[in-house]
Amino acid sequence: MATIERVLVIGAGVIGLSTAVTLAESGVPVRVRTDQRPAETTSAVAGAMWGPALLRPAERVRRWVADSYPRLVALAADESTGVHLAAGRMAARVDLGDQVPPEALLLPDLRPCTPGELPEGFRSGYRATAPLIDMPRYLEHLTGRFLAAGGELLLSPVSSLAEAVEEASRIVDCTGVGARELVGDPGVRPVRGQHVIVRNPGLDEYFVEVGGAEEFTAWFPHGDRVVLGGVAVEHDWSRVPDRATGAAILRRCAQAEPRLAGAEVLGQQVGLRPGREAVRLEVERIGGATVVHNYGHSGAGVALSWGCAAEAAELLG
Ligand SMILES: Cc1cc2nc3c(=O)[nH]c(=O)nc-3n(C[C@H](O)[C@H](O)[C@H](O)COP(=O)(O)OP(=O)(O)OC[C@H]3O[C@@H](n4cnc5c(N)ncnc54)[C@H](O)[C@@H]3O)c2cc1C
Repeated sequence: MATIERVLVIGAGVIGLSTAVTLAESGVPVRVRTDQRPAETTSAVAGAMWGPALLRPAERVRRWVADSYPRLVALAADESTGVHLAAGRMAARVDLGDQVPPEALLLPDLRPCTPGELPEGFRSGYRATAPLIDMPRYLEHLTGRFLAAGGELLLSPVSSLAEAVEEASRIVDCTGVGARELVGDPGVRPVRGQHVIVRNPGLDEYFVEVGGAEEFTAWFPHGDRVVLGGVAVEHDWSRVPDRATGAAILRRCAQAEPRLAGAEVLGQQVGLRPGREAVRLEVERIGGATVVHNYGHSGAGVALSWGCAAEAAELLG
């Protein structure tokens, strides 16, 4: 019987690990090389929530989001994965009308908020139970699964794709914002996010402001801590939490949810969303090697992860 050649996955964020798990659990030998530990990636900073992603290419993005949903719901059956289902609100400061993205209809109990359910300053919104993902725990879960399936994870930066193709003839590039340098893709840009982590004052519902503003209000409870957001600042490479931004996040969240006022601050984190005009999930041939690019998931990499992983594995052939 012919042996299957090892695949090299570059990156150990949610995209790299989901892809590596998908391949390794189907019996393919996989090595992951990453220049940051999973817990240090942008993925570890995400809120995170499954929800519609208004990204391009729209049809494929819808499919990836829809394919990821049942996977996350299934993982929520085991709380050690870091995934759980929570009720909550997606709300806007403008009137959203009755148009909802089709993927939102996957949420079985989706319904419009009554005016009394909206915080001051918000005009419309929806209530629904959705998967919430405690990213540090979830990345540990993915790493554990990958290693259990025989995968190898190396803390080892890749300096160029030319170097990578010398090591393996099948590669998946899951480098997030790092693709700008590794692949020389000028279309990749950081969209800086910052979170404040507080001790949970008793919240079990999430809240997320939709509408695409640079500053918004969001909170995601994960057991004894709540992740508060947020900001989305284009072209900002700083990974250092900004004090004024953190104070403004706390202020906005406390305004919408008084129980968050005075909550004990446990820390602040920054992540660089891999912004791009469209998610890049496609094959490039370099010499005799097949490189599948799987990056540019902007603010929705968690929601897209399993759908993109399955397609990346398929494209790898
Ligand atoms: C504040 C914030 C909130 C968010 N909330 C949500 C949410 O609620 N829901 C959602 O779906 N998404 C959310 N996102 C977006 C999500 O976090 C990203 O889309 C996702 O993390 C991208 O994953 P990734 O694996 O592509 O990138 P990353 O997590 O950045 O991982 C990239 C990996 O590539 C490695 N790498 C890069 N270059 C090299 C190299 N040359 N050699 C070796 N390794 C390399 C890095 O070390 C890292 O391991 C949020 C993001 C932020 C910042």
